[in-house]
Amino acid sequence: MKYIDPHIHMVSRTTDDYQRMAQAGCIAVTEPAFWAGFDRSSAQGFYDYFRQLTEYEPKRAAQFGIQHFTWLCINPKEADDPGFAREVVSMIPDFLNSKGELCGGNVLGIGEIGLNKNTKNELIILEEQIALAETFNQLVLVHTPHLEDKLKGTRLIMDALSASTIDPGRILIDHVEEHTVSEVLDRGFWAGMTLYPDTKVTPQRAADIIEMYGDERIWMNSAGDWGCSDPLAVPKARLEMRRRGHAVTTVDKVTFDNPQQFLSQSPNFSLS
Ligand SMILES: [Zn+2]
Repeated sequence: MKYIDPHIHMVSRTTDDYQRMAQAGCIAVTEPAFWAGFDRSSAQGFYDYFRQLTEYEPKRAAQFGIQHFTWLCINPKEADDPGFAREVVSMIPDFLNSKGELCGGNVLGIGEIGLNKNTKNELIILEEQIALAETFNQLVLVHTPHLEDKLKGTRLIMDALSASTIDPGRILIDHVEEHTVSEVLDRGFWAGMTLYPDTKVTPQRAADIIEMYGDERIWMNSAGDWGCSDPLAVPKARLEMRRRGHAVTTVDKVTFDNPQQFLSQSPNFSLS
């Protein structure tokens, strides 16, 4: 068996995690740019981070036979100062076009952009990053806020995306839950479920959501970040689906075929 983990923050994981993921059948990961566990003090901090995502992390993954792809942006948590955020965003095109010094051959798009506290400044920077994706014909990976702000934030984000010319089939809205997934799918976007051991969607709830809303335009991922998270959440959800009697083809569809179909819209994505 093989699977893709399409949203995992490997910079926060150990090489032991890469090894265990490879042993569980992971052949590719995609890593969105996010908050580093602390606020960076300068735009230069993001430049170094983007180099980590485009140069160093693919090499670390390759040691375990895992292909590494990435997404670049300023995350919503650090996007509340527009001047600072614009300085970071202005560096991204050099990575998208990198033919020379910078190597961005593993960049799939802009992400994970979205909202954190649903502030006005966050929304302005979200719109500017959507415009960046439009200009450079990039895929988009979207972060939605947590808990009580999730439904409101998801709607605000979808409205901003719908105002652009980007085909919703090229946008994935992540961190969906039972109360947001149907609106996301109904509006033509792809939906991602972020699996966590305790908080957010568990492997059991992911299986429930697939049973309720089907297996089209949906994937699951482990998020694997600085907090309590489980880099083996996707293979655990596969086992849960098999335990419930889902066909192997269905399990493969949501953990391999669907991510491959969505990600293949980027010319930088191909499995070796
Ligand atoms: Zn994330």
